[in-house]
This record gives sequence, structure tokens and C-alpha cells, in this order.
Amino acid sequence: MTGFRDVLVVSDLDGTLLDHETYSWDAARPALDVLRSGGAGLVLASSKTAAEISDLRDAIQFPDWPSIVENGSGLLEPGEDPQADLGGDTPLYQTLRSAIAGLPAGFRGFGDMTEKEVSERTGLTLSAAQKARMRRFSEPGVWEADSAGFDAFLAAAQKASLTVQRGGRFTTLSFGGTKADKVVELVDRFKPRHTIVLGDAPNDVEMLRQADHGVIVANQSSAELSPLPGEDQGRIRRTTRPGPEGWADAVLDILQEISQMKETGTHG
Ligand SMILES: [Mg+2]
Repeated sequence: MTGFRDVLVVSDLDGTLLDHETYSWDAARPALDVLRSGGAGLVLASSKTAAEISDLRDAIQFPDWPSIVENGSGLLEPGEDPQADLGGDTPLYQTLRSAIAGLPAGFRGFGDMTEKEVSERTGLTLSAAQKARMRRFSEPGVWEADSAGFDAFLAAAQKASLTVQRGGRFTTLSFGGTKADKVVELVDRFKPRHTIVLGDAPNDVEMLRQADHGVIVANQSSAELSPLPGEDQGRIRRTTRPGPEGWADAVLDILQEISQMKETGTHG
């Protein structure tokens, strides 16, 4: 299998490329190596900040591709130093924090937490938690009051033109932009022939719909996603193994299928 310059992979991180518990991507190495040597693109898409994703993007050796950060509310471009112009407090982020402060009480955002608390709630090390708090576009947090209060909070957020995305661990507020929006933008920029999108949670569903090949990575720690349009036809598939193991299984299978299509000439 060689020659994947016309392939763009977009992947969620937690519970998808990264193990839900350990954050390890080690089991995905075989597939990452094939993608890299074949010249495929890999766009990481996550609720993580630019400061967090930058290190991972370097570690997996795909530094020349943009990353979708903070749940799609922004991009980290190749070569951009996420820590150079940050300090964690951009004007946009400060405006967002002020808007949240005007909503019904009960939401506790990363900006309200110490590095230690973020570390405890996420399982990240203290230095990783520090990077998780370096935000530009969005504010993740937890709801601490009752569920009726949460409904009122959501309604008020909508009234204030804030976008709310509910992920596996956190609820994230922003001024808009989703992972799916950014996938559309990047597909338009790079014009791949084959777009592979991988995710594990409800907040990945919209971006899975943008894929030529969508992959739902098994995650035993959250509720199973209901069947998606295109699943019957095989456009969207599910892995049996969770996290990076399932990631590698699916990516290698799809690359094999793309290679076979090319060899038999059934695709262009
Ligand atoms: Mg996930």
C-alpha cells in the first residue's frame, strides 16, 4: 500500500486516536506510519487547545497539517506557535468568559478552576492541565447544579448567541464553529479524493456526515451512538476494538480498500 496523497484523515482525539483512560496513541502507530509514508494528510480535531494539540501533532509527526482545536471554534495552522501569542487570555476568550458570567449560575469553567482541579477532573498531568487552560476560542466546564437549572442555562446561552457543545466529559461554550464546519473548510482547501473521519461521541456525528469513509470508534465508557445515515451502505463503519486499536484497524482497512479500488480501476 503506497501513495495516499489524495487521502485526508480527520480524527477526534479522546476515545478515538487516544485511549480514553491513558491518552496513549501507541496502538495506532502502524496505521500512522502507513499514512505518513504514503503522504496522506492527518488533521487532529478535538476539544483540546492549540497548546495541547501542538505537542501531539509533533509527536505523531504530522506537523505540516492544520489542527481543528477547541471543538472547532478555531484552527491551529502548521508552523504556528500556540504559546507565542497566548498567555492563555485572548480578548475573544475574555469576552466569552464575560458572556458566561451573565448566564444562570451553575457552570464551572476551566477559567474558574486551578490547574490542579483541571488536572484532577481530566486525569492530565499538571503541565498538561496548564496547556488545557490556555484557551483562545472556547470554555469547557462542568454543570454543578440540577438538571432543570441546566435547561435554563442552555436557553440563556442560546439567547446570548453562545454555542453549546456537550462532549464526553465537559460541556463547552463558544461563539460558534464546529468540528464539522472546519472539516468542510479543510476539505475545500486540500480537495482530497478520499476523506476519512473518525470519532467516538455525539459531538463527532456532524463531522462523520462529511466523510467519504466515516468511522465510529468503539468506546465502552459512553452510550453507543445510534445508527447514522450511510451506515447501512457501509459509508460509515464501527470498530470492534476501542481507541487507538480500533483506529488502526479501521484506517488500515480503508486504505486497503482505496488501494484495491485504484488497482482495479473501479475508482477513477
Ligand atoms: Mg472523543
